[in-house]
Amino acid sequence: MKKIVALALILLLCLPSAALAEGMELTLQASKLTLYQEDVYALSYSLEPNTGTRIYWTSSDPEVAQVDEQGVITALQKGSAKITAFTEDDAAKATCKLTVKKLNITPISATIEGNVYDGNYNPVSSGVEAALRSYCERLGDSRGAKIARAAVEKLGVSYDTMDCSQMAQAIYKANGIRISRTSGTQAEDMAKYERADGKPRVGDLIFLSFPSWRTCSCGEVCRRYRQVHHTAIYLGNVDGTDYVVDSSSYFGHVILRAYSGGTVAGMNIVFVAGK
Ligand SMILES: [Zn+2]
Repeated sequence: MKKIVALALILLLCLPSAALAEGMELTLQASKLTLYQEDVYALSYSLEPNTGTRIYWTSSDPEVAQVDEQGVITALQKGSAKITAFTEDDAAKATCKLTVKKLNITPISATIEGNVYDGNYNPVSSGVEAALRSYCERLGDSRGAKIARAAVEKLGVSYDTMDCSQMAQAIYKANGIRISRTSGTQAEDMAKYERADGKPRVGDLIFLSFPSWRTCSCGEVCRRYRQVHHTAIYLGNVDGTDYVVDSSSYFGHVILRAYSGGTVAGMNIVFVAGK
């Protein structure tokens, strides 16, 4: 196998350069790019003359960043990688030097803004809200990032104005995704987008059910889809803690909540889904 590869390489190298170039020029929108972990970035290109030739993409380090067949980069961890675009016959090629930075958010003020709670309904008393807002600003322009930012913009909105599923519905609708009105039916709508690995991505919906000792409003038997009674929007992992935005009947407004393990404020995570 190695021999064949080597032979192919030699053959390629031996081709006259004119045959390789053929005047085709592939240019990437950026030759250098810096992204933060979890950013999703669509790198565009131009091909002159544009013959409709298929463009292939590769990342020199898929652990740092992956690139799909459309040139959409997903930044995974701190480091650097070279994103290369090339035509099928290798007639044209272009690279982008990518740097992925760690999202390292440290609390930046000691103000209690009243919107952030830990997993046990206790307010988080540092500048976590400001840090999370700053984190959201630094996310890329993916749909997930837009959803996360839109969720943070709802902080403080009264529960009477928008309960958990109304909030999710409004934010998803603004981003071109239609889901129905209640958390149970939203769970049903989104079930086909369930994350197989169970790990939420930025902007995903998290569906929750009551713990077994707490009865829901359905009566003796829960009639909701997979017993889902609450929806939250996943914001991301900041300094090792996962955060969601949800409209809380307990607090009476939209809050940011930290969680760990399989629960959010005492409710069980049934599944997470994103599109
Ligand atoms: Zn129920």
